[in-house]
Amino acid sequence: MSPDNSKNLARDLNADGFIARFGGVFEHSPWIAEAALAADPGLLHADVGRLHAAMASVLRAAGPERQLVVLRAHPDLAGKLALAGELTADSSAEQAGAGLDRCTAEEFARFQELNDHYQSKFGFPFIIAVRGLDRHDILRAFEKRVGNTPEQEFQTALGQVERIALLRLYQITGQPQHDLGQALMDRLEEFATFTAEPGMLTRLFLTKEHKAAAERLIAWMGEAGMTGRIDAAGNVVGRYEGDQPGLPALLIGSHIDTVRNAGKYDGNFGVLAGVAAVAELNRRAERLPFAIEVIGFGDEEGVRFPVTLTGSRAIAGTFDGAALGVADADGIGYAEALRAFGGDPDAIACAARRPDEVLAYVEVHIEQGPVLEAEDLGVGVVTGINGASRFIVRVGGTANHAGTVPMKLRRDALAGAAEMVLAVERRGLEGTDLVATVGRIEALPGAVNVIPGGAVFTIDLRSPDDTVRRAASAAVLGDIEAIAGRRGLAIEVEQSHDAPATLCAPGLITQLSEAVGRCGVQPRKLPSGAGHDAMAVAALCSVGMLFTRCREGISHNPAESITVEDADLSMRVLLDFIRHFDPAALGH
Ligand SMILES: [Zn+2]
Repeated sequence: MSPDNSKNLARDLNADGFIARFGGVFEHSPWIAEAALAADPGLLHADVGRLHAAMASVLRAAGPERQLVVLRAHPDLAGKLALAGELTADSSAEQAGAGLDRCTAEEFARFQELNDHYQSKFGFPFIIAVRGLDRHDILRAFEKRVGNTPEQEFQTALGQVERIALLRLYQITGQPQHDLGQALMDRLEEFATFTAEPGMLTRLFLTKEHKAAAERLIAWMGEAGMTGRIDAAGNVVGRYEGDQPGLPALLIGSHIDTVRNAGKYDGNFGVLAGVAAVAELNRRAERLPFAIEVIGFGDEEGVRFPVTLTGSRAIAGTFDGAALGVADADGIGYAEALRAFGGDPDAIACAARRPDEVLAYVEVHIEQGPVLEAEDLGVGVVTGINGASRFIVRVGGTANHAGTVPMKLRRDALAGAAEMVLAVERRGLEGTDLVATVGRIEALPGAVNVIPGGAVFTIDLRSPDDTVRRAASAAVLGDIEAIAGRRGLAIEVEQSHDAPATLCAPGLITQLSEAVGRCGVQPRKLPSGAGHDAMAVAALCSVGMLFTRCREGISHNPAESITVEDADLSMRVLLDFIRHFDPAALGH
């Protein structure tokens, strides 16, 4: 793991020169650069990543009072100082770069209104790293953040201050930014051309588009110093040897099949990020004390055949042979399609990995939810993949004439069910790490002039913690019984689904969180509400996941979107994680 000295940009500086150069990285706060250098004289020879991490940790350790002083040192956006020409040169250039010097009179008025509201609510000015945003994006973010709680917003503002510092460091040193992220985004665009339907992305399992994508992936793996192949179950597997051949491997993967009319990032992002990370190691001739295998699973979405996760189950050794007997809507059998793809239905067992050949599995994936965006974080560390319980509840009352029966003499099944729905919602709101949904309800007989004699509704409860989920299920069912008892209603509850949670390995959560922190981002842990290949691989080895923010949490949709900055951040976190990966600290 030789450090790359080509980016030692502060070289040849003495301490005074260092402060002169980097003292303004945090607005009007040269003490941060001074304290960072005092704590680590090696910063005179450090690259941007290390400089940033060192200064950010000074700010984080400074405590809320000094942090508030730093926040207050920032100017209002499009504010009075800007009008009077009294900004620092950095702030002035940054604000002009986002077009804030060209606001219309109305926009300017809106900024002043928001500035006043924000200042009086939080006691410091609105701070946002404007690079890559236009003034409409900024206004939208401003309007959203003004609704945050003071605690949330204080942390969000600090995160933005750190981000501005990072951008300024890149600016000062001239080090190219987002090169890894940009290259990855370019590749994702190209990869999206492997589709069944031009103009949109549809790449179903074992189709010719899937095969073409797999061949391109193998070619990219080759360029990255890996040997790539298609395994018996139709997975694309590329291997990068460690500092000696045949070492156990860190697996990095996700899926390359998509839904119909999909986004470009779901699945593909994690696979190409893995290839890009290995390419970067290979470029620097870095060999690690373990091998790396990047896997592009084929069957995560389960769109073509009535099975799912067959690729990751094959790797984990839990492939169900019944899958070989299923067929798609055109009557093409799974086994036949697998053979045509280059797999081997008779040798699926050979795709299974032995536990001693693998160290852990890590998957980078778009969040497919709104949490990271709401908290203004580019990445988050997954704690586990939610387990789920589903119930069908049938409520029995007495159907009768809506005009003749007085209110006190009714047994209204729908009114009772409505109270039960609110009880479900209340349990969901009470729990952290718990979501509770009633997605369907029906009144019987369902006529405008009849008191409902029956009601049927569903409950869906999910949590990354099975204990929490089971306790919540019991509590919800208890509430429902109590409500039914009080209202004289009959109830019948049927459990229609029960799937346990997949826990991410604590050691991987810790190591991923440390990598996130070293990349200058507050590590945020969150559960996954959606299923992933990691669920199947968990039967083989420890699994961990890194989520990347996606716009408005949208996925399974061409509107799926991530930024080049977040792609770059995810790449840096993944690389940092790989370089620091310690299999001994997984707690086997
Ligand atoms: Zn996915």
